[in-house]
Amino acid sequence: MNSSEFRRRGKEMVDYVANYLEGIEGRQVYPDVEPGYLRPLIPAAAPQEPDTFEDIINDIEKIIMPGVTHWHSPYFFAYFPTASSYPAMLADMLCGAIGCIGFSWAASPACTELETVMMDWLGKMLELPEAFLAVKAGEGGGVIQGSASEATLMALLAARTKVIHRLQAESPELTQAAIMENLVAYSSDQAHSSVERAGLIGGVKLKAIPSDGNFAMRGSALQEALERDKAAGLIPFFVAATLGTTTCCSFDNLLEVGPICNKEDLWLHIDAAYAGSAFICPEFRHLLNGVEFADSFNFNPHKWLLVNFDCSAMWVKKRADLANAFRLDPTYLKHSHQDSGFITDYRHWQIPLGRRFRSLKMWFVFRMYGVKGLQAYIRKHVQLSHEFESLVRQDPRFEICAEVTLGLVCFRLKGSNKVNEALLQRINNAKKIHLVPCHLRDKFVLRFAICSRTVESVHVQVAWEHIKEMAADVLQAERK
Ligand SMILES: *Cc1c(COP(=O)(O)O)cnc(C)c1O
Repeated sequence: MNSSEFRRRGKEMVDYVANYLEGIEGRQVYPDVEPGYLRPLIPAAAPQEPDTFEDIINDIEKIIMPGVTHWHSPYFFAYFPTASSYPAMLADMLCGAIGCIGFSWAASPACTELETVMMDWLGKMLELPEAFLAVKAGEGGGVIQGSASEATLMALLAARTKVIHRLQAESPELTQAAIMENLVAYSSDQAHSSVERAGLIGGVKLKAIPSDGNFAMRGSALQEALERDKAAGLIPFFVAATLGTTTCCSFDNLLEVGPICNKEDLWLHIDAAYAGSAFICPEFRHLLNGVEFADSFNFNPHKWLLVNFDCSAMWVKKRADLANAFRLDPTYLKHSHQDSGFITDYRHWQIPLGRRFRSLKMWFVFRMYGVKGLQAYIRKHVQLSHEFESLVRQDPRFEICAEVTLGLVCFRLKGSNKVNEALLQRINNAKKIHLVPCHLRDKFVLRFAICSRTVESVHVQVAWEHIKEMAADVLQAERK
């Protein structure tokens, strides 16, 4: 493909994308295919002679679209949202064109510096404490990770290195292995599976603190576990608190947990993957109170802030803790500038070496929506979830299972897990809307998450009418 064909095909692709998203409501939200559907539809090996672009484009509707789950359909209410906006898509195109690998400042200064400034912009939108910002060339700063999972893992690994160095400074005879055997990290029993996974990858024990009646981790439960474990000779070093859990969007009590972590010298990491975006609205900012106790904080603009995947925003108070944890400087990666202020070598902050120019899509989105536009977007989603909540509450057959704070409603039929499993199965087999379940304690619960950028009240109403119909069928089948 030469540049003149690229010009033509590029414009066609933009039209295809706009048509796809404009017409997405007309597509069935969940595909009809069975596992293995795709292999028989394409050749067993790559073509020896080139195909034409026409051939490829024609295959999209034939081969790809039949197997796509349409995450941006206004009838998609599963998981959590994944962000999508036109400015972000265009920025990603530019990112592909520049195609730099910004592992160090010198590897592409704009890639590093725009990221540092965008993370400060975003930190200011959230009113993060200044200690997390790079703006004053202080000790803090932000970095774009690929996912919240990576952010949690990086925080845990940095905390692990820090505690090992501290203990070895006190007792030089202690080996790393001897220390690691006794290290223990904590999160609530409602934390995302990626936290447990960080413990597995990091080779340390991770203990689940029982959450309270509102599915929140409380200071007293954490303190109890700490006392018990310390008495048993273990070494607590890390706590991952969640703001906006994946199951039901509950909030750990930072004002209780934070001071304990500071007093006990435990690294406090906050995972606000979904809920973090809402903190740009003054009326939701109080949910972030206590962040001042944290060592690291993370949320995903790629979930709810219109910046397409991947863009996970992570801040640390002491960049050196992260950057020096696993620092290697081979000659081919060295350059003549000191790592300070804007001159950041982000490779030290993350697991891979290579990194894309992801801050471009933040820059495009923040400028084209403005903070006010982004706030309005969050508010609309929250309002729609409350609308769904009130519909559920008006129907005595149903119950709401957790407080609705942001864009997620957990609900179920009053009755057995079996009847709720049957309801979900019926809903997802009909494929008119798409939902996923969760367990809250031993209850099987349906999650209704406001997801699509284009979802309106009418879609929520249609979804609720449909759920009621499916529920009537299930309840009738039960009576037989
Ligand atoms: C979605 C989610 C994650 C995982 O996010 P990734 O960016 O896909 O790793 C982690 N924690 C919480 C609370 C989440 O909701």
